[in-house]
Amino acid sequence: MSQKTVNPFDLTGKVAIVTGSNTGLGAGMAVALASAGCDIVGVSRGDAGDTPARVQAAGRRFADVRADLASIAPIEDIVRAAVEAFGRVDVLVNNAGIIRREDALAFGEDDWDAVMDVNLKSVFFLSQAVARQFVRQQGGGKIVNIASMLSFQGGIRVASYTASKSGVLGLTRLLANEWAARGVNVNAIAPGYMATANTAALRDDAQRNDEILGRIPAGRWGTPDDLAGPVVFLASSASDYVHGHTLAVDGGWLAR
Ligand code: NAP
Repeated sequence: MSQKTVNPFDLTGKVAIVTGSNTGLGAGMAVALASAGCDIVGVSRGDAGDTPARVQAAGRRFADVRADLASIAPIEDIVRAAVEAFGRVDVLVNNAGIIRREDALAFGEDDWDAVMDVNLKSVFFLSQAVARQFVRQQGGGKIVNIASMLSFQGGIRVASYTASKSGVLGLTRLLANEWAARGVNVNAIAPGYMATANTAALRDDAQRNDEILGRIPAGRWGTPDDLAGPVVFLASSASDYVHGHTLAVDGGWLAR
């Protein structure tokens, strides 16, 4: 009699919503989840980029959903579109995010509200809408929020970003507390310094670039591929007893 081996990282037949899937870390995580077996509902506010082609090259389907997460108006439609496309939702990756830089003495209300709306308010209300769908499906689900080093540290000149990402860490814990017993895992990934559009200004500043690289034990900027294993882990049954955790994927930055 043959022994069947179960791969706890296998996501075959699962459906994942990934926000901000058109570029950067979101694109990398969408492709990683597709490679592990997920059909992808990619949420972008503009063109979907090359993510649909990359998901299809991995042998999975891609539903292209356009939504601006600066407001919560499109949130119900995102979940409805996912269910219409693929019949269910198993995974949500709350990745879309923005940053604004200004001295705290000069920081304006627009830069506060814009960042809090995308990075925190929409994360909560999309999680709520998807968790309601999980409850309707009666089979649990996985939510992965994208936090930051500034969920743990203060940073400088990024008041609303630090507030929002510290909020993401706390919200991840709260939602885990409320939903763990329903079979819903809520966790977060805190990327370190990753080479994407989000950090282009830092990398273009030779002095800042050298300072940052000199402090990263791994000695290099992270890449979207560095999140592949962590996001598949947190989206899969391999992490069924992991709740409310924020996993740093930072080349050792926080260990310093
Ligand atoms: P990115 O390349 O700038 O991508 C950000 C994504 O969010 C893009 O897809 C962007 O869409 C989307 N987005 C922004 N505002 C939106 C809105 N109003 N509605 C819908 N989508 C919106 O940056 P990234 O580095 O991949 O960042 C992804 C996540 O990782 C963010 O939450 C960021 O804070 C976090 N993070 C990044 C780093 C890093 O070092 N790169 C470190 C820690 C955490 P558009 O392309 O249309 O702008």
